[in-house]
Order: sequence, then structure tokens, then C-alpha cells
Amino acid sequence: MVILFLGAPGAGKGTQASVISKKLGIPHISTGDIFREAVSQGTELGKKAKEYMDRGELVPDEIVIGIVKERLSKDDCRNGFVLDGFPRTVAQAEALDSALSELGKNLDFVFNVEVSEDEIVRRLTGRRTCKQCNAVYHIEFNPSKVEAVCDVCGGELYQRDDDREETVRNRIKVYNEKTAPLIDYYQRKGILIDINGELPVEKVTEEILKYLSK
Ligand code: ADP
Ligand code: AMP
Repeated sequence: MVILFLGAPGAGKGTQASVISKKLGIPHISTGDIFREAVSQGTELGKKAKEYMDRGELVPDEIVIGIVKERLSKDDCRNGFVLDGFPRTVAQAEALDSALSELGKNLDFVFNVEVSEDEIVRRLTGRRTCKQCNAVYHIEFNPSKVEAVCDVCGGELYQRDDDREETVRNRIKVYNEKTAPLIDYYQRKGILIDINGELPVEKVTEEILKYLSK
């Protein structure tokens, strides 16, 4: 099963991708998590990616595509995977199509998680992320049991640099210009499913599971 989550930054892609990947027992692949890991390890890739991430810009296609192809060729992806935050441009979507055909796989579901711009700003500025395991919380909508401590692994929660309001505005602009055209791209292929992302987390999950069980 190959599932893709599309949507603006903060729409809830990562939150849902994490739940669905656990339910189906297939890996959750987030390019944002891959880049943040590289940044925290101080690798060459991390240094390059950080320049773009800090400004809320996209990391160049040739870098992202190479990373994803390598990740999809790993053994744990043989029964499928959940993509979150990739593709973000038409060139990435085309590269994904050809990578999937090389792997003999099809894209089964593309969930387009829809939320208003005001909600995006509220969600991103209140998001807190675990330094250790990447679990995602919200100070108001989905708080951890103990403040600033991850429920899953006890790691420290932090606010991502790019979740500050100035960067958030640019990320929304970049999304509208570069990523929103993918809605049309997948609609034309007949595999796009719109999901109301404004509902509570569990309701959004229920909606997605309804489609997956059909
Ligand atoms: P994305 O991966 O699309 O950038 P996240 O899954 O990280 O988005 O969610 C962004 C923020 O919104 C997080 O703080 C998360 O806890 C919160 N969130 C996610 N889904 C919902 C929801 N359905 N209702 C309220 N808050 C949500
Ligand atoms: P995310 O965690 O998905 O919000 O991604 C955080 C940041 O990582 C983005 O704002 C981009 O700078 C970079 N990034 C993640 N995925 C991609 C991608 N598919 N293409 C380009 N840049 C990406």
C-alpha cells in the first residue's frame, strides 16, 4: 500500500501519517524529518538543507529526489509506505511516478488534508516537536501530559525554528505557489481524496480509515 498525504504546512499530514503507518505496519517517510535529522547531525546534507528550511523555502528538487529514491529502495518499504511532505513540486511528483514504476508499485491513495489559513497559523505557532522521536504535539489542541516532555519517549519538546510566525507566512506562500498545483495533478489521475482537516485528530483519522477499508 502506498499512501501520500498532501496539504499545507500544519494541515496535520504528519499527525495522520504517523497513526496510519502504525495501523498498517508500514514506514512513515517524512522528508522534513529526514532533513531535521541531518541538520541535528551536522552532515553536509543538513548544512545545505538548513539554509532553505530556515527561510521557509523548499530544498532544491535534485537533493530531495535523490534522498527519497534512496529511502524507498530500503527493505522496510517493500510492503508499502506512507509519504508525508513529499512530493512538494510537480517535478518531485513526476520523479515519484517513475521511482514507483521502477519499484513495480502504484500510488494507492492521495489524501489532500484541507484547513483554512488562520487554522494553519494557529497550528504551526503552537506546534511542539520531540527532539528524540519526532512525535508532534500542540500546546492547546494536543498537549503532552507533562509540559515540554514527550509522552512516547520522555524526550524534550521544542519549537521548530521554522514554526515562528514570520517563516510560517512564507511557507504558506511557497505552498500556494509550488505545492498546491499537485492537487490538480492527482485529481487528473483520479486518485485524490479531499479530507476535512479541521475536525479533531481522531475524526480525521476515522475519515481516512473509511477510505482505506473500502
Ligand atoms: P503537518 O505535518 O501537515 O505540517 P502536523 O501533523 O505536524 O502538520 O500538525 C501541525 C500542528 O497541528 C501540530 O501541533 C498538531 O498537534 C496539530 N494538529 C494536527 N492535526 C490536528 C487536528 N485535527 N486538530 C487540531 N490540531 C491538530
Ligand atoms: P515539513 O517538516 O514537511 O514541514 O518540512 C520542513 C521543511 O523541510 C520545509 O519547509 C522545506 O524547507 C523542507 N522540505 C521538506 N520536504 C521537502 C520537499 N519534499 N521538497 C523540498 N523541501 C522540503
